[in-house]
Amino acid sequence: MRALIVHNPRSGFGSDAIFQFERALLQAGDECVMRVLTDDFVAREAVSDAAGFDVVVLSGGDGTISSLLYELRDLSVPVCAFPSGTANLLCSNLGNAPEPFALARACRIGKTAALDLGEISWASDDGEEHTTGFALMSGTGFDAQLMQAALPNKAIMGQAAYFAAALANPRPTVARFSITVDGETHEREGITCLVANTATIQGDIQIIPDCRMDDGLLDVIVVETSDAAQLLKPLAVGLLDRSGHAVGRPHIESFRGREIKIVSSVPVPLEVDGDVAPGLVSSYEARVLPRAAQLVVDPMSPYGTADDGSSRFGGSDVIAYPK
Ligand SMILES: [Mg+2]
Repeated sequence: MRALIVHNPRSGFGSDAIFQFERALLQAGDECVMRVLTDDFVAREAVSDAAGFDVVVLSGGDGTISSLLYELRDLSVPVCAFPSGTANLLCSNLGNAPEPFALARACRIGKTAALDLGEISWASDDGEEHTTGFALMSGTGFDAQLMQAALPNKAIMGQAAYFAAALANPRPTVARFSITVDGETHEREGITCLVANTATIQGDIQIIPDCRMDDGLLDVIVVETSDAAQLLKPLAVGLLDRSGHAVGRPHIESFRGREIKIVSSVPVPLEVDGDVAPGLVSSYEARVLPRAAQLVVDPMSPYGTADDGSSRFGGSDVIAYPK
């Protein structure tokens, strides 16, 4: 096996779990390149030689992993997402057993699922055009303000930084969003308008039900409320009804489609998979890249298949599960 591990040492709490993973993954005869990213890494350069490997492991937080996944789009090499970040929502959405040993085993078994990515384009207020990929959610409004406010505290507080930021900002901007989904336009007022490839957030709460990464569709989520106390309501309901099937989601409306355009009545901040773009935006477009990512999945994943005993790279049965 030839493995490429791309690791962002700035992600999360600086855990060394990726080195335990590497030790579990490699066996006699294997080769491994461990590429440690610099602060100003360019995603395209970091994975430009990926086609020459049997497996590519992306180790970092959601922002790092999704930017690299976008550069690997449409490549057939299996890609393993390794959770080294603060929240690791992509890895929770993939649902693999998260321990280093279990992920190493999944890589040797080599079962993958072809999952969708999103692509988002916008012009910043200086007129510059941007296009990038996302794996989870991107959007404008309160969520982006929260990400920005949480940033200084993420390293010490972890996920709690987001909740602290929400409580410190009780009056978010209300905007009028013009939402066009596959040619049909809807006008809505709210504090956030998100485009989601997958909609499960912290605590296994699905913001909207039945949002999947393999249906070739993106979901648009509008939060139609004007204060943080109201915003806590859908989250509280979420704790009682994690899937969203039983009581639904008050103050949240959603649409589903392939091509999406959002225009906001006021310039608002934009975030892409938790990273805030500089400046403010008044509109953005998003489209789905169907089945563009070949992600390693194990039988625990909702995108995985039952273990049939096969192993693409061999040696998977000697990797022990952690005690
Ligand atoms: Mg989908």
